[in-house]
Amino acid sequence: MIVGQQKPFDEIWGMVKDHKQLTVFGCNTCVAVCHQGGNKEAEILASLLRMRATQEGVEIEIKNGGIERQCEHPFFESAKDLLDSSEAILSMACGIGVQFVAEKYMSTPVYPALNTTFLGDVKTDWHFTEKCQACGDCILGITGGVCPVSRCCKRLFNGPCGGSSKGKCEISKELDCAWQLVVDRLEALGKLNDYEKITPIKDWSKDRAGGPRSFKLEGF
Ligand code: SF4
Ligand code: SF4
Repeated sequence: MIVGQQKPFDEIWGMVKDHKQLTVFGCNTCVAVCHQGGNKEAEILASLLRMRATQEGVEIEIKNGGIERQCEHPFFESAKDLLDSSEAILSMACGIGVQFVAEKYMSTPVYPALNTTFLGDVKTDWHFTEKCQACGDCILGITGGVCPVSRCCKRLFNGPCGGSSKGKCEISKELDCAWQLVVDRLEALGKLNDYEKITPIKDWSKDRAGGPRSFKLEGF
């Protein structure tokens, strides 16, 4: 899932306060799981913005709503009337959703309520950890299922750096060294010999270095 964190409230207020009307628009999938951008959070944020407007004597009508996913066309049908009549939209989706809304509503200002942070998993209900950077050429098959792109601070592909110590990364004693995790997993799989294999230089053109990527299913 995509993890995001709500921007500081003052930053959000600063972006939207000059409008006469605003719709706070939730996205009820990934960013709802991390309790930052779902329809419930949109309702709460809209209330906080109304209070701030009252405190500062700013006249702004604030509505709120939301859909299941702000990154797919079909979900927008249920919110058409709300968005068509909006002067400005504060999207609570990840950066994909914000750009999707901005493309759909070319002449409506669309603002991000979140900082999109990473592709991660749900460690516990309230704790999310980074697991993937969508590098475009997955190598989990040779690293025992541990991603060195997102979990090694130096993105190393052939073993740990000299700073790895007692299984921890040199940047923090709290952080597992990704390469220790790779070794542990290969050992558990009985494939420790794989650790000796040299991983060739990665083709980063499949990552962001190759520009925006696209994927089109043939035959449709
Ligand atoms: S190797 Fe690339 S695609 Fe695979 S998990 Fe890591 S970042 Fe994601
Ligand atoms: S200590 Fe481990 S995780 Fe940290 S940068 Fe070095 S190899 Fe990567």
